[in-house]
Amino acid sequence: MKSLLVIVFASAVLCVLQSYPVEVDLTLKFDPDAEDQVWKVKTKHPENETKLTTDSMDISTLLEKANANLGKTPDGTVIRFGDIAVDPLESTNADPCTARSCKWPKSSDGNVYIPVKVSSAFSARERTVIEAGLISFDKSTCIRFRPHSRERDYLFVQSLAGCYSFLGRRGGQQTVSLNRRGCVYHQVVQHEFIHALGFNHEQTRSDRDGYVNILYENIQRGMEYNFNRVNTNNLGTPYDYGSVMHYGRNAFSSNGRPTIVPKPDPNVSIGRATQFSQMDIERINRLYNCKKYL
Ligand SMILES: [Zn+2]
Repeated sequence: MKSLLVIVFASAVLCVLQSYPVEVDLTLKFDPDAEDQVWKVKTKHPENETKLTTDSMDISTLLEKANANLGKTPDGTVIRFGDIAVDPLESTNADPCTARSCKWPKSSDGNVYIPVKVSSAFSARERTVIEAGLISFDKSTCIRFRPHSRERDYLFVQSLAGCYSFLGRRGGQQTVSLNRRGCVYHQVVQHEFIHALGFNHEQTRSDRDGYVNILYENIQRGMEYNFNRVNTNNLGTPYDYGSVMHYGRNAFSSNGRPTIVPKPDPNVSIGRATQFSQMDIERINRLYNCKKYL
């Protein structure tokens, strides 16, 4: 009873300290084997989720800023397309998600439970942002990111050199990097975990040439490969300028001029998402056949 009171008190303090509209889940139970992995927060008011975003910073700006100069991580992982990690031994041309199955398994209750371990290097405030980003999938998809306990395959969120993620499930411990300086934002958390679900960037879609022009003359030399088209499975969904997976107009620009221009209307806003779009959600639900949400 005494320890429960301590938990309640600590939770209340945490709640007061947070500047985010999240409430501490007082019903949480501690698993002695995974104490540090019990998530402390739960978004009880999903309509408040947007307040967790940083309105002034869009996904593309955040990623480019945090990943400036990121090409290869210290452990040899190669970063392509700005923030997608690839094993150096894998073919760089084949989309690993179409080359092999990369979906996370589905449980008999129709949900897809994905174990996530969050490094203890993050502060309480940073954990709140990360956990709230993960729980944001609960509301509109069958994806359930949950604290890792003993599962073999899981995602390990660490503060490494930049923001990046592998595409889809790889097996075993799988890194998602959210550097403490520049990546711990709601939209970045959603973006990187959507990569981990198996999705590419919107502007690399197989059908993108019908929707955007890529201006190679404005791209930094050596960065052109970031604009390669990928043989994506678009799941019958339309191209989405508002996707949290879409890069901005000036991504990898060498001269401040645009590198991605929508067509036919060049003034359409792109890369400005501060959270996932309806179509991002739809695509997740189609890929994972989330029957309850389709
Ligand atoms: Zn990305």
